[in-house]
Amino acid sequence: MLLEVRDLHVEFHTRDGVAKAVNGVSYGVDAGETLAVLGESGSGKSVTAQTIMGILDIPPGRVTAGEILFEGRDLLKLKEEERRKVRGAEMAMIFQDALSSLNPVLTVGAQLAEMFTVHRGMSRKDAHAKAVELMDRVRIPAAKERVRQYPHQFSGGMRQRIMIAMAMALEPKLIIADEPTTALDVTVQAQVMDLLAELQRELHMGLILITHDLGVVADVADKIAVMYAGRIVETAPVHDIYKAPAHPYTRGLLESIPRLDQKGQELYAIKGLPPNLTRIPPGCAFHPRCPMAQDVCRTDVPPLYDVTESDAERGSACHFWRECLHG
Ligand code: SF4
Repeated sequence: MLLEVRDLHVEFHTRDGVAKAVNGVSYGVDAGETLAVLGESGSGKSVTAQTIMGILDIPPGRVTAGEILFEGRDLLKLKEEERRKVRGAEMAMIFQDALSSLNPVLTVGAQLAEMFTVHRGMSRKDAHAKAVELMDRVRIPAAKERVRQYPHQFSGGMRQRIMIAMAMALEPKLIIADEPTTALDVTVQAQVMDLLAELQRELHMGLILITHDLGVVADVADKIAVMYAGRIVETAPVHDIYKAPAHPYTRGLLESIPRLDQKGQELYAIKGLPPNLTRIPPGCAFHPRCPMAQDVCRTDVPPLYDVTESDAERGSACHFWRECLHG
């Protein structure tokens, strides 16, 4: 396994008390594989990613338990300097907001070239040539001319392509993309997602795709981990989840995807709001919003049951996963 997160716990000290943002998350991704991590905001998906990348704000954040094994090495035990070497060269991250991630006063070419001068010790001329090559690779038209332009001179979709180029520059083994297409319109979203998937296949990288939108991952992910209140509530190969979810929360997320054949109908929305992480409900954290909740759900935390029915592993943290899966 390229990356394996084991029983990770992360909390934040806030004025309201201790917010338990990540509560025992375990997942893994292999080279050439795409894992989509799904959940509403506050589910812990981005905090887990930031902890993997080593960019969590500490304090107020604090890792209280767990391991993050990258090619067998526990990243949590590395010194900051070693961690920095892993970041960029071996794993890279793509954020939602390209405009605030790029430096507005430097040309995109200068920012791309810097990756090669700093990390690979290339001359400025060679690094510039590499920058043009990268922009070509992410299909930015007229790359030779546009390499001299500034971030604000690009559209949102093109800027996101530049972010992908920067993340790919050093050919890392793992890329974490945190809501990479959320700020874009639907057509551009699909193009950027296709490009990301294509490059990931070509370079045989591991990809963790973080999103709140089940609609964008169907064609690109191999497997999905659904998170709620800092825990994984369902994990499965992508097609199994679309066919039949084994957790009521996943079912709610699926039902809230807009569908062309239901044009004009009101869109389903999961009732209520995600919990305050300083006061996670007892038992199953989803119970106040769950249409299938029973008494046991209010008292007993459901473990991640093994719900494998074919070859591929599946898990669901629902006491009533059978009813959900076959209901
Ligand atoms: Fe709903 Fe109970 Fe399953 Fe939680 S354990 S998802 S409350 S049915």
